[in-house]
Amino acid sequence: MAGPQPVSAPAAAAESTPRLADARRVIVKIGSALLVDDATGAVRRDWLDRLADDLAALRARGQEVVIVTSGAISIGRRHLGLTGRRIRLEQKQAAAATGQIRLAHAYSETFARHGITVAQILLTPEDTEARRRHLNARATLETLLGLGAIPVVNENDSVATAEIRFGDNDRLAARVAQMISADTLVLLSDIDGLYTADPKRDPAARHIPVVPVLTPEIEAMAGDALPGYSSGGMVTKLAAARIAVGAGCRMVIAQGARANPIAAIEAGRPCTWFLAGGGPKAARKRWIAGSVKPKGVLVVDAGAARALLAGRSLLPAGVVAVEGRFERGDPVVVRSAEGRDLGRGLSAYNSGDALRIRGHHSDEIAGILGYRGREEMIHRDDLALVEETQ
Ligand code: GLU
Repeated sequence: MAGPQPVSAPAAAAESTPRLADARRVIVKIGSALLVDDATGAVRRDWLDRLADDLAALRARGQEVVIVTSGAISIGRRHLGLTGRRIRLEQKQAAAATGQIRLAHAYSETFARHGITVAQILLTPEDTEARRRHLNARATLETLLGLGAIPVVNENDSVATAEIRFGDNDRLAARVAQMISADTLVLLSDIDGLYTADPKRDPAARHIPVVPVLTPEIEAMAGDALPGYSSGGMVTKLAAARIAVGAGCRMVIAQGARANPIAAIEAGRPCTWFLAGGGPKAARKRWIAGSVKPKGVLVVDAGAARALLAGRSLLPAGVVAVEGRFERGDPVVVRSAEGRDLGRGLSAYNSGDALRIRGHHSDEIAGILGYRGREEMIHRDDLALVEETQ
């Protein structure tokens, strides 16, 4: 393995494409358009079998898998003879009630080929938003995963009322990811990711492989003006991305219409990754690591270097040298005595004071400086190690 990169590396590393192989807990969202044959209303078993093969391979590598699937309504309506273009809400709910059985059966059969048990979970928004029910749903999902099953989740369309529905499974999948702290959300779609404009209309539209941060520019790309996109549309996919990345879960939009769509992501076929936000603390660390110009250097001894890597703050006692001129709150590089950059942080002392208290125990600070400053030279929340920001 290569040694730690210089501190200037994180910005570049953040652009690099994540790998599915690194995922611990993966949510895979499967839309009706992929799963259900439009003409017959039947499950596309060949496609589903290939997908199940891919997911069984993830499981065999020790990765946990949760499926969020659509299709209940579109399967069920054929069986109930509801063939008109527009059907009423109660008819949709009736369709879901019969379609869900067939849907669950298809998943159960396809995973049985791999000796994997599936378990059906039907959720309404209350189950993911209301705290007590949230805890219940989470406990059930965790238990199933612990027992080696693959939970197959859908909205409880038959009882959810119009006002309290997710309405689209992109958002439902993101809520599930948030609820069980998944690290990766895969949205299988009829398009291979996000483009700067609708590629069906605009030949100059560019595919975007990685979205490090959801900016207003990115949100604008989904527009309402991209009708080529599938059921939920790009708008709901970006809404899902906002929920997922905000919860520290990265998300990928990938083409699902091909056979073995998960293997295709791993093989590097085009898709769009949204990098995980990791919450405000992580965002602050990325900012410290990437966007500020260091004003000086604190050289630390081996004991301090070990403490930092173990997640502790940098104390004056561990600082052996102070270089450069900086004010309190300025970014500085933290370097090992061997010259290896360990990270960057915001110094709690200016360079003059840092020089005077270096090597001293924190209890001595007030005696040396004549005022009681912070115990730490750099608090751990103000410290972005190369390791944690790569
Ligand atoms: N829950 C709906 C169904 O199973 C689908 C919602 C969606 O397509 O996003 O039919």
